[in-house]
Amino acid sequence: RGKRAFIAGVADDNGYGWAIAKALAAAGAEILVGTWVPALNIFETSLRRGKFDESRLLPNGSLMEIVKVYPLDAVYDAPEDVPEDVKSNKRYAGASNWTVTEVAESVKKDFGSIDILVHSLANGPEVTKPLLETSRKGYLAAISASSYSFVSLLKHFLPIMNPGGASISLTYIASERTIPGYGGGMSSAKAALESDTRVLAFEAARKAKIRVNTISAGPLGSRAAKAIGFIEKMIDYSYANAPLQKELLADEVGNVAAFLVSPLASAVTGSMVYVDNGLNTMGLAL
Ligand code: NAD
Repeated sequence: RGKRAFIAGVADDNGYGWAIAKALAAAGAEILVGTWVPALNIFETSLRRGKFDESRLLPNGSLMEIVKVYPLDAVYDAPEDVPEDVKSNKRYAGASNWTVTEVAESVKKDFGSIDILVHSLANGPEVTKPLLETSRKGYLAAISASSYSFVSLLKHFLPIMNPGGASISLTYIASERTIPGYGGGMSSAKAALESDTRVLAFEAARKAKIRVNTISAGPLGSRAAKAIGFIEKMIDYSYANAPLQKELLADEVGNVAAFLVSPLASAVTGSMVYVDNGLNTMGLAL
């Protein structure tokens, strides 16, 4: 039977999550997505009205089918964690069962199990502020949305993941090298995500025979990246200085993700794989 994937962090057709969904669909997987609650309405409407049809096109000429879209807010584990102002917020009140435990329960009820878990989400409310200007609240929010969200998703989905399955997340080199402008504790959040990849790879293998890897991706002009404010500069910098002087396509990250969660990578776990046109290897930009 084909594999079933749950991809958390798809809300349009521009980001890495969408590209990973496409690569997995092209390889024959059934696609479920988790969409951030405030973005749910517009995403579902656009999907229904055919706004994404061109980008749903797969190499074999068919259109990627998203079997189900689940509302998700990965900063909340269970209903009792949701503060009143969020609960009563108009954009949240229209949806239900969107905490991590509830989404895992819904997927179990609807489909029984999954094989692949993709974490393609991040959020840092103070990302435009240097670390020295970042508040405790902003720093912890970045860690909660961008790092613990993966721990929580893996924890709650693990019981419904078939042995031999795999998970993948996306990280950024700002965890290892200083990238001025990637602030608000986002560099710290990526460092945590990378360290957790190693620890969770051990724990998830021993507990459930599940692999855990992360992709350190180069710059892409996604919606989230545009919020940081200097993504065009990063793309130009990469184009000028990376060994491979070409545009980095989201699909190239999607393809490596599909490889890493497939049986072709059955001995790879706890790894970080760069998909960045080789930029990480440079010590001097010429
Ligand atoms: P994106 O905007 O396509 O994806 C980010 C998604 O996270 C959005 O769909 C957003 O709705 C969702 N999200 C935010 N907070 C959430 C929450 N609390 N619960 C559920 N969903 C939430 O942008 P992207 O750049 O493709 O980001 C995907 C991943 O790739 C992120 O982890 C990002 O850090 C990573 N990454 C991006 C770049 C880049 O240059 N774009 C580079 C390296 C790594």
